[in-house]
Amino acid sequence: MDSILELEGLKKRYGSIWALDGIDLKVGEGEVLGLLGPNGSGKTTMLKLIAGLARPTDGRILINGQKPGPVSKAHTAILPDVDHIYRWMTVRQAIDYVSSFYEDFDHDKARRLIELMNIETDMKVGHLSRGMSERFKLVLTMSRNAELILLDEPLGGIDPTSRDKIVYAIATEYRWEHSAMIIATHLVRDIESLFDKVIFLKSGQIALYGSADELREKYNESVEDIFKEVFA
Ligand code: ATP
Repeated sequence: MDSILELEGLKKRYGSIWALDGIDLKVGEGEVLGLLGPNGSGKTTMLKLIAGLARPTDGRILINGQKPGPVSKAHTAILPDVDHIYRWMTVRQAIDYVSSFYEDFDHDKARRLIELMNIETDMKVGHLSRGMSERFKLVLTMSRNAELILLDEPLGGIDPTSRDKIVYAIATEYRWEHSAMIIATHLVRDIESLFDKVIFLKSGQIALYGSADELREKYNESVEDIFKEVFA
């Protein structure tokens, strides 16, 4: 299996804090990786470095053999943890605006996802409720046929009944064969069915890494329960 992403000795320091402290990782084609860890363990930092939104202090990142830059950015879709859409635009205008930046934007996929998520296209982005706005950001990210999809807490701010819908959307609309996905989350139980592999981050280091099925078998419990034990 070809690697879409390779990290070698990845480190990031903010002042005296090592947000990431030596991460080695390979993510292959078709893989969904759960990136799990408590607050401040380095999850967002890792996604930002991969997306080219921040620079590593040390180490190497390769996305399809390329360092983060304009080429890799064109093939990487990130669900940001901050609002990045103009509030005065309608949902439809925002889709047209965002899609104009990306060659891999798939309008059919966007339409299906908008319908699935029950988002009103005439509504102003600024009038969407927090949960709706989270769903809309997910639609924009997932509508790209990107080789690498990075989701930072995709279920944050979303009520439990809508979470299943979102997990379903990720499972059905994600282009499994030629892309890879990393999902950073605390809401492990709601989304662990999607994970092929999981990585547990603790203070910027890998505390545990492996296939989700193998870990469940080895510990005889869910990934969520393993998570609770590792971070107890
Ligand atoms: P959460 O689950 O709360 O989102 P996280 O696992 O995503 O947390 P990060 O946001 O990556 O964690 O933060 C890792 C560490 O780096 C924390 O100690 C945080 O305070 C620090 N940090 C992150 N970004 C910055 C920054 N821009 N300047 C200074 N310190 C930062």
